[in-house]
Amino acid sequence: MSTALAETSERLLALSRRAESLYDDLDLKAVAEWKSRGRSRKAIGFLPIYVPREIIHAAGALPVGLMGGADRVEIVRGDSYFQSYICHLPRSVIELAVGGRMDACDGFLFPSICDVIRNLSGMFKMLLPGKYVHYVDLPQNFDTALGGRFYKSEMKLIARDIGNLTGVEVTDDRLRASLAAYNENRVALRRLLHARRDRPWEVPTLDYYLLLRAGYMLPVEEHTAMVNEYVELAAQAGRPRMDNIRVAVRGAFCEQPPLGLLRTLERAGCYVVDDDFVLGSRFIEQDLDVHGDPWDALAQGFMHHSLPAASKYDQRRTKHADFVKRVRDYRADGVIFMAPSFCDPALLEQPMLQKALEDAGIPFTAFKYSEDTGQFQVIREQAGTFADALKLWGNA
Ligand code: SF4
Repeated sequence: MSTALAETSERLLALSRRAESLYDDLDLKAVAEWKSRGRSRKAIGFLPIYVPREIIHAAGALPVGLMGGADRVEIVRGDSYFQSYICHLPRSVIELAVGGRMDACDGFLFPSICDVIRNLSGMFKMLLPGKYVHYVDLPQNFDTALGGRFYKSEMKLIARDIGNLTGVEVTDDRLRASLAAYNENRVALRRLLHARRDRPWEVPTLDYYLLLRAGYMLPVEEHTAMVNEYVELAAQAGRPRMDNIRVAVRGAFCEQPPLGLLRTLERAGCYVVDDDFVLGSRFIEQDLDVHGDPWDALAQGFMHHSLPAASKYDQRRTKHADFVKRVRDYRADGVIFMAPSFCDPALLEQPMLQKALEDAGIPFTAFKYSEDTGQFQVIREQAGTFADALKLWGNA
């Protein structure tokens, strides 16, 4: 291996290790460290899927994505707050909160995606009385004059509340600057997504995933630089191309799969070329206008340029056709539905998407997981059989 290639590989390894250390930082030490650099600095935690991070940034605070504890938290108290038949995410979130491991956050936003998250916001209000807790009502009407107006008023309310915490008023100019910072991040993430779509051997699923998660801990400017550097180096690293099939993954937008499951998919012979992991990190696909009314720009982004999600009502009823088109655009040989056990939004949407794939002649397989799943042999066999079947009888 030449010296230049060895240096590239070493730097790539350092980037993925840095991202993994942020993923492992369940005590939010990196957030506490960021806050220690200025007295007015505050951190606002948010639950999946999406909140407009630009507003938090414009108020001088750090948005921190809270995605549960995966397989790294032993649930002791979390179980006692919930019935058996719901997903795992709220248990680990409560466990982390009551254990003081979210103390670095000064406030919390809970987007309206399902009843579990709604109930969780109420619990946070009771369990953490000194903290700012807000349930973000996202519009389910996508008419600009109705849902758009409502959404703008909701965003202005959040901006006022967080501004009161930091002492920084969210002016139009500050918000435009934040839109620009997040636009740069969107550009970087699109580069990463497109590199993986076009040359998936350059961007292993685990690295890709950890980079997305890093964006939920780092200031946006730092994350943008990290992603750009990774994409540039990955193109020069000469990673070998494997005889893998190309799959799109759906259902993993909220409770996240453990890292072991992501490794298993690739070891089973699947390149993930499209997915809905950490969906809020790239929920708005297009750059937002930074010249006009920034509140309008954010509302337009959410209402008309955001990715489809099980928790988002699609007034135009084109979700299934859009999904088939996306699978084709990303040249996926097949689809893996992997949803968290008991996730109503993901599991209720799945039959509609499966029917659309059947009609389009696109193969798929499905299984469920929990964020603390520890056994992957069955999943490896299922994904491996799917990959082999597509190589033998499909178009892969
Ligand atoms: S995993 Fe599903 S059911 Fe659980 S909180 Fe998330 S969206 Fe709701």
